[in-house]
Amino acid sequence: MLIVMKFGGTSVGSAERIAQAADLALASVRDGHQVVVVTSAMSGITNQLITAARNAAGGNYQPAVRDNFYERHKAVADQLIKDRPEIRKSALEMIQQRLDQFEKLCFGLSMVHELTPRLLDVISGTGERLCAPLLAGAITARGGRAEAVEATELIVTTDQYGSAEPIMEKTRPLAQAKLGSMIEQGIIPVVTGFIGANEDGVLTTLGRGGSDYSASILGAALDAGEIWIWTDVDGVMTANPNEVPEARTMREISYSEASELAYYGAKVLHHKTILPAFKQKIPVRILNSFNPSDQGTRVSVDGRPSTRGVKAVTSIRNVSLIAISGKGMQGIPGIAAKTFATVAAQRANILMISQASSENNICFVVNSSEAPGVIKALNSALELDLYQGHIEDITADDSIAIVAAVGDRMQGTPGIAGKVFAALGTAGVNVIAISQGSSERNISFIVSAHEASDAVRAIHRAFELDKPSQ
Ligand code: ADP
Ligand code: ASP
Ligand code: MG
Repeated sequence: MLIVMKFGGTSVGSAERIAQAADLALASVRDGHQVVVVTSAMSGITNQLITAARNAAGGNYQPAVRDNFYERHKAVADQLIKDRPEIRKSALEMIQQRLDQFEKLCFGLSMVHELTPRLLDVISGTGERLCAPLLAGAITARGGRAEAVEATELIVTTDQYGSAEPIMEKTRPLAQAKLGSMIEQGIIPVVTGFIGANEDGVLTTLGRGGSDYSASILGAALDAGEIWIWTDVDGVMTANPNEVPEARTMREISYSEASELAYYGAKVLHHKTILPAFKQKIPVRILNSFNPSDQGTRVSVDGRPSTRGVKAVTSIRNVSLIAISGKGMQGIPGIAAKTFATVAAQRANILMISQASSENNICFVVNSSEAPGVIKALNSALELDLYQGHIEDITADDSIAIVAAVGDRMQGTPGIAGKVFAALGTAGVNVIAISQGSSERNISFIVSAHEASDAVRAIHRAFELDKPSQ
């Protein structure tokens, strides 16, 4: 079977971790599988690259930054590829060449003082390009055959810098030709996660955490047998383990549960990861590279529904509640249409919508980074309604969080919403707005950011998610 396996930042965060990742890839080859590896940047590198770009645009580029990047990667090469001097040398050359480009861009930024989304993508995508030659070198030094591949040659995307979308009909033939011929020759391709290129060949990124998405895009393009996401926890858990220490790993979840959880903040999967796999019904496994003997979570068609209804609970922070209100809105057609068309034109993503039945208020949630642009655009698009007094106020509140309870069996099971809100009442959490998707696979609601963890824990407790369900 062909397995596309992705290693996250902590799974390639040090020489020891990269050695483990190489061993895991080789173990699958020994088990008779064909393997394509997708790698993230070493942990922390993407954040450091973004900080360096912002500092440079602020006129402050420190050459020591490049040296630090080089030293961290060179230490890995020295440790893992020392017995293969020619491979070590070529990996270090690739790393130097990518750091040269990074340095030139930062130098340019410090002159022009303007960081465009396009430049930010080139700089923030450097981390994966530094890591892939190391992981390929480590696999080779351990007896396999591997080569680093730049996803810019494989994944063709839209030019939405910072959250590009794959164009599958262009990606598929490229990925099949390039990776297919490597696989046939017994070479393990080690592909850079997170990045692609638009139709003009300019580097784009798929959004933070996007290496998971890269793996499922390539898995779909290659008609892979399975997609494996190696991370630092034993799979998808009933809640964020940092928020709920008693959270448990779910052994099986459905595609829809996985995508709702990822969409509503379960960082373990990038929110778009599931779709390409789902379209082709490719099973996805989430596995722990620190504990590889654990079976992890399997994402499949029916996902073993839980009789409790709710299977997991998540939260999203750094979001803003945009509210458009005014007593005169009642009965005025088209305000909602204008509002959502304006938000769409801003390319802002609406995470949740709620309208009170009095029609005096439309509220929806966007990422806080997008809120100022949305407010400005709404003020201009709804200028006449504001002037005529139909709308009194357009506000953004960034002190909120979304909490979501997710599970396929919620559909058609009476009493779940009552139990969710009773638990919140008992915990003294105030609910600001509620929304239930028509899929009935989740109930999401808005609470004050400082009450979000209490809300998550209250629901986790009420549905006894710390106990095995089957
Ligand atoms: P990687 O670097 O492997 O991509 P991430 O940090 O992006 O890893 O995602 C894994 C982390 O996601 C876990 O360490 C955990 O802290 C967090 N997380 C949040 N919600 C969940 C959840 N429901 N299940 C598992 N992990 C979660
Ligand atoms: N390195 C990228 C990030 O930190 C992508 C990823 O790790 O998935 O966002
Ligand atoms: Mg991740």
